[in-house]
Amino acid sequence: MTAQVIDGKAFAASVRARVKRAVEELKAEHDLTVSLTVVLVGDDPASEIYVRHKVTDAREVGIASTDVKLAATASEDAVLDHVRRLNGDPSVHGVLVQFPTPKQVRQDAVLDTLSPDKDVDGLTTLSAGRLVSGRPGLVACTPQGCLMIIKSVREKLDGASAVVIGRSQLVGKPMAHLLLGENCTVTMAHSRTRDLAGVARTADILVAAVGRAELVKGDWVKEGAIVIDVGMNRLPLPNGKSKLLGDVAYNEARERAAAITPVPGGVGPMTRACLLRNTVLAACAQHRIRPPAEL
Ligand code: NAP
Repeated sequence: MTAQVIDGKAFAASVRARVKRAVEELKAEHDLTVSLTVVLVGDDPASEIYVRHKVTDAREVGIASTDVKLAATASEDAVLDHVRRLNGDPSVHGVLVQFPTPKQVRQDAVLDTLSPDKDVDGLTTLSAGRLVSGRPGLVACTPQGCLMIIKSVREKLDGASAVVIGRSQLVGKPMAHLLLGENCTVTMAHSRTRDLAGVARTADILVAAVGRAELVKGDWVKEGAIVIDVGMNRLPLPNGKSKLLGDVAYNEARERAAAITPVPGGVGPMTRACLLRNTVLAACAQHRIRPPAEL
């Protein structure tokens, strides 16, 4: 079997098109301008690029987007005050603080201050609790994107065996809960799992979110499985350049899987698109508007 290769770029483009239509509809029917504010503390060059991408992505779909830059020396109190102001500003629907923050600004303190209703990254404890409790809320973008990809391949997941390798707050844990919500039988694997290969081989749906290049070998993949590779591992090359590798040995896994995401061009673009989708969902929830069904 050679797998269907899932084109995350094309899928993300279709999500962005749906978000754009939703933003236009909210403006036309409810006079609502969906808006996102991205907060950057300090001047880390990689973070500056991420923030720029997020603001540009948002503007491209018609979301009013602002970036707020605070000095690298800003105190935690100053940052938290800013977040509180954004929480209380009814014209702002989504708020995202770019991590990592400088060391005097604790990530947990920021997340404990941010309103879960505006938490478009889905990272606050309350957002995580809502997901675990099966209540409506904003879900972390990467696992949400993975679930959308999985459901584009197989709509009904009832009873499927799902294995998620990695248990981070950002990816592994929310991914497992999303799959549980789809009635999968979920196993969460991690660095202490015994016989990881054997556990992986039970999976109809295998999600690798580890951060170890090509950890998952081809013979870890059950014939006909859906394989989602979240990993982004930069491998330095002798010529000074680098290569991006996933957590899955792609060429081998492709021979056994029914469908697989490549790296790059799989999960990554969906993460960005889901941030925009979350911003629209947040705006709808704040205004008690039912989100467009196609979202
Ligand atoms: P993380 O916080 O470092 O978590 C890694 C997880 O993998 C941990 O739960 C760890 O287990 C587990 N692990 C580490 N080595 C392992 C091994 N040898 N066998 C089994 N499990 C092992 O990473 P993350 O934030 O979840 O990110 C994971 C990967 O996804 C990274 O490559 C990251 O760059 C990528 N990522 C991509 C996107 C995207 O948009 N495409 C978004 C987010 C992250 P323990 O808990 O036992 O330590």
